Amino acid sequence: MNTGRDPDKPSPMGDTAEFQRAVDRATRWIGDYLEHPELYPVLSKVAPGEIRAAFPSDPPAHGRRFDEILDDFEKKIVPGITHWNHPSFFGYFAITGSLPGILGELLAAALNVNGMLWRTSPSLTELEGLTLDYLRKMIGLEGDFFGQILDTASTSTLVAMAAARGALSDLDIRRRGMSGRSDLPPLVLYESEEAHSSVDKAGIVLGIGTENMRRVKTDERFRMDPEALEAAIVRDERAGRRPFCVVATVGTTSTTSVDPVRSVAEVCARHGLWLHVDAAYAWAAAVLPEKRHILDGCERADSIVVNPHKWFFTPTDLSVLYCRHRDELKNAFTLVPEYLRSGEEADEPNLMDYGFQLGRRFRALKLWMVINYFGVEGIRRRIAEHIHLAQSFAAWIGRHPDFEIMAPVEFSTVCFRWRPGGRDPDQLDSLNDSLLSAVNGTGKAFLSHTKIRGRLSLRCAIGNLRTTDAHIEALERVLETEAATVERKTRRD
Ligand SMILES: *Cc1c(COP(=O)(O)O)cnc(C)c1O
Repeated sequence: MNTGRDPDKPSPMGDTAEFQRAVDRATRWIGDYLEHPELYPVLSKVAPGEIRAAFPSDPPAHGRRFDEILDDFEKKIVPGITHWNHPSFFGYFAITGSLPGILGELLAAALNVNGMLWRTSPSLTELEGLTLDYLRKMIGLEGDFFGQILDTASTSTLVAMAAARGALSDLDIRRRGMSGRSDLPPLVLYESEEAHSSVDKAGIVLGIGTENMRRVKTDERFRMDPEALEAAIVRDERAGRRPFCVVATVGTTSTTSVDPVRSVAEVCARHGLWLHVDAAYAWAAAVLPEKRHILDGCERADSIVVNPHKWFFTPTDLSVLYCRHRDELKNAFTLVPEYLRSGEEADEPNLMDYGFQLGRRFRALKLWMVINYFGVEGIRRRIAEHIHLAQSFAAWIGRHPDFEIMAPVEFSTVCFRWRPGGRDPDQLDSLNDSLLSAVNGTGKAFLSHTKIRGRLSLRCAIGNLRTTDAHIEALERVLETEAATVERKTRRD
């Protein structure tokens, strides 16, 4: 059919034959890229504004061909990419855009369904439920948990905490709100001093107020101290405040420490508080029988968040919220306008009722593909390999006279720093800062940093499927070479 308006694009949809050629070109590009992501610098070398400046400031008046658009992608967009797929990406938490995950994204984009109601795509809702059951079985999470897929752990924690707040039924917050009420005590939230910022952000959004967030102290292994937690709760109760939620972390972002969830759960039970567990990164280790213990006590949690988009080879974004109180989620969120009333909802949920978003993407497809493609044993082998690589790197740090380990290595993340002799703590911070910039400036490896007990620490997080011993050895050489360079420079200054 020719509309006569644009001879190059005969149908309103575009030209499917041209699309097919573009997909062939794109999949060839993807194949080459995934074979050799290390041909690119890990950290993009562009200056701020450089990418925007490469494009016209006005949108094109007339449509362009896929070939031209893909040329732009390759020549103008790829240079501004920091390559999370690079085997020497060791920053934050390293991830993998795996083959089955990419395929799942492609097909989900093509289907373009919205899973707000069961009937707006039964496969979305049912595959989500099935896949999250698989996942729960893989990590041995017992109990009657209702799972749902959200974009990020930040959202999952916010949704869980909203349910926790709603569960304070005597306060009737859903109906009466929180402002202008003299009968409403301050609600108090507890987390360890190592907890992720997303916990505080959720508290901010929910009107808890930062002064009502208690950062409980941690022990020498950076784990929440349950006695200090209980003491803080008792203090708040006596002062007439209303403790409502404790967030424990399995695998903190900075040092990957694991809070004693079982003891924390007991404290929560004694005081009637909601326990939310943030296991965004480390949960994946629980696929290994010898690491299953990291989730001890989580079966007593009210909710738990795990991120397959971190250490589970699933492309960003995909976070999972498991909650033992399907009814509390629904009480907090259901609000059905007439045009969305559908009648059904017996066993299969209308997912819009369990969180604040209405629409949702078909994220389950890529996770289902990841699990099917690798299988349980295949995933175990890959996770075990990452732990092994982290241990071998940590052993090298331990043997090295000028480097030291900064925190116990439980998973695939190593916190360490450069520690040449004869320097005071401030000088060490500044030397490590220089070393970090030097290493990242090489484009050969990418590390990030954290503060541990107030001191700068470097972090090497392993989580990419392409990372091997050779990349760890290369990182060791880069660290030594760049440390020597920084050393020479500081002597000269
Ligand atoms: C990464 C991380 C988060 C945040 O994850 P997003 O999915 O980016 O929101 C929260 N908690 C912990 C422990 C994390 O490691």
